[in-house]
Amino acid sequence: MIYFDNNATTQIAPEVFEAMTPFLTDFYGNPSSAYNFGRDIRQIVEKSRAEVANLIGANDTKEIIFTSCGTESDNWAILGTLEANPNRKHIITTQVEHEAVRKVCEKLETKGFEITWLEVDENGQLNLEELRNSLRDETAIVSVMLANNETGILFPVKEIAEIIKANSNALFHVDGVNAVGKIPINLKETAIDLFSLSGHKFHAPKGIGALYMREGINLPSFFIGGGQESGRRAGTEAVHQIAGLGTAAKLVTQSTSNVRVLRDKLEDFILQNIQDAKLNGTTDRDKRLPNTASIAFSNLNGEVILAKLNDIGVCVSTGSACNSDNHVSSAVLRAMNVPYTDAMGTIRFSLGRFNTEQEVDFVIENLPRIIEDLRGMGL
Ligand code: PLP
Repeated sequence: MIYFDNNATTQIAPEVFEAMTPFLTDFYGNPSSAYNFGRDIRQIVEKSRAEVANLIGANDTKEIIFTSCGTESDNWAILGTLEANPNRKHIITTQVEHEAVRKVCEKLETKGFEITWLEVDENGQLNLEELRNSLRDETAIVSVMLANNETGILFPVKEIAEIIKANSNALFHVDGVNAVGKIPINLKETAIDLFSLSGHKFHAPKGIGALYMREGINLPSFFIGGGQESGRRAGTEAVHQIAGLGTAAKLVTQSTSNVRVLRDKLEDFILQNIQDAKLNGTTDRDKRLPNTASIAFSNLNGEVILAKLNDIGVCVSTGSACNSDNHVSSAVLRAMNVPYTDAMGTIRFSLGRFNTEQEVDFVIENLPRIIEDLRGMGL
């Protein structure tokens, strides 16, 4: 199988699996217990926290709080900020956020909060003047992603943070879930207040994430009960998951992956050799993740291309909403004004550390024939 869907999830790295297993077998103690067994386990949790802090350039390990996933981190950042600032009813976000932010904001809109949905242009970029003009005293939080999961387009979050801090008292949350592990991140150099990440996007298991809260910020927790995470999020820590996350974070900092070279080879080949294949979003590769290519095969049905690739053992995803009964193009591509006939024929290739040049060559050898056959059949 050739797995080109690393923005959806990733394979657990062997080192991560190995780091996790002792905590599922022999060392099953509760990190809050007072005996030695427990203390060793507390140390594992703190070591992982330090690895995660190092990966994203936090100032202090205390700024990292483990969560169950990226969705929890995103939800907590927004809802926690609103709970801590009950008089502020305005939120700014973008039209291209992941559901973990978008659906929270849609729900808040029905409960009387005012949401500013910033637009993007056809390159997928924000108008920072629109952001500046939207900020006001009642703005509680601005939530903007770092890397778009569908297109790989990067938002200039460092610059956005400066605009927010110069013009308001709002907190700034960044959904970094699809960026961590793919590009360097150094929060110390920014004024970002809250930052979400998720292990399964960078070779840790599903079911573990983290929320970075800049020192001095202490959002109320949804979970109330026995203390963990310095009393900031209740519930016994998932030690095996945390050990996996820490190891995955360390592997990123040591990785010398050539994923960019592979993505460039695949993308260049498709755009140069397949008729009516178009890149969605900016052609400036510095403004996109190094692993992602979102390509429209105009007038074809992405679901059919996906099925044909699946038949030859290649996993990708499409640019349509995940509902096979309902033919809707993705909200992200719609926000970028990608025509319907392009959006419906969009395939996202997202590569990862474990992909090889042979795999790219296999796709290069087979994709032109698949597209040609489908064009011939009018599909
Ligand atoms: N935010 C972004 C940008 C994502 O890509 C994802 C997952 O696809 C999430 C949030 C949600 O993360 P999780 O799957 O860990 O809940």
